Amino acid sequence: MTRATSVFVSEPGDRSVLQVRTHDVPDPGPGEVQVEVAAAGVNFIDVYKRQGVYPVPTPFVLGEEGAGTVTAVGPGVSDFAVGERVAWCQSSGSASTVVNKPAQVLVPVPDGVDLEVAAAAMLQGLTAHYLVTSTYAVREGDIALVHAAAGGVGQLLVQMVTARGATVVATAGSDEKLELARERGAQHLINYETVDDLAGAVREAAGRGVDVAYDGVGKATFDASLASLRPRGMMVLFGGASGQVPPFDIQRLNRGGSLFLTRPTLAHYIAEREEYEWRADEVLGAVADGSLEIAIGGRYPLTEAAAAYEALEGRKTTGKLVLVPGA
Ligand code: NDP
Repeated sequence: MTRATSVFVSEPGDRSVLQVRTHDVPDPGPGEVQVEVAAAGVNFIDVYKRQGVYPVPTPFVLGEEGAGTVTAVGPGVSDFAVGERVAWCQSSGSASTVVNKPAQVLVPVPDGVDLEVAAAAMLQGLTAHYLVTSTYAVREGDIALVHAAAGGVGQLLVQMVTARGATVVATAGSDEKLELARERGAQHLINYETVDDLAGAVREAAGRGVDVAYDGVGKATFDASLASLRPRGMMVLFGGASGQVPPFDIQRLNRGGSLFLTRPTLAHYIAEREEYEWRADEVLGAVADGSLEIAIGGRYPLTEAAAAYEALEGRKTTGKLVLVPGA
């Protein structure tokens, strides 16, 4: 038994339901590994869970990803040893000083990759990875629309799309954010707060309809994303930072030019251990060799978790925020 401090959601609601509490953590059970958490990632899915958009029984500990050092292993665990550096994503209850995790959600962190960076890279990095390799396999010469391109997933998408020889039309809510997207490799920049006809601006910048639209903003951008696509283009709605997209008339895909629409989620792209390892190896490997830049936009102690989410929900962030238990 050990003691931990964690960020709890006491009931569905706004940020006032976040509580930082100290509690017991049992020794790791069969197949489990105990980890001293160096950093936990701040993600939009935490907001959806806290609000009850994704219903979770309360109280629960917030946080879907993190990285840290193994302090104990439970019976039957042979893949990880005390002292090893590990990271994980898609595993709830991560905003804590100490966690017990099933060994199958852990991956090793390569030498030279800082644990905070590893925590920041996992959920958004594996998301950008599946979006460009599997949901729509980006090819050389493609043109991709990336919304909120200075955000966590956004900056990674820009880098991964351009690394495949494709062009990015990036949108963001301020010129400062667009400058960040440009630094990551985006060739065309659109401030969607200042244009009246977003789809028209995208088509003008691209010179044609785009091959794929990566849209994690949702409600505010969905119509423009669809209208930006070339015939038989792919609409990838992967989130709703501005709100969920309302019910949809399928005939719009026909009228738009035999379009494709998908609403993917990370869990279905890392469900098999082999696929999870492949994506994590590629993402953390790219971080280790310097070809993928992880931009940490803010570090917060657990006691200031509400401030981190206020910044994320208020569009005040760029890159990735992390909670740092030791800070
Ligand atoms: P970001 O860092 O991208 O933050 C969200 C950004 O969305 C804001 O910075 C803002 O950028 C933009 N935005 C536009 N309108 C709003 C609004 N009304 N409220 C808040 N933000 C708004 O977050 P993440 O990288 O963590 O996540 C991006 C999206 O990806 C989210 O929708 C998330 O749910 C989704 N996601 C989906 C996954 C999946 O597998 N399906 C996995 C991981 C994330 P700007 O000011 O430039 O407009």
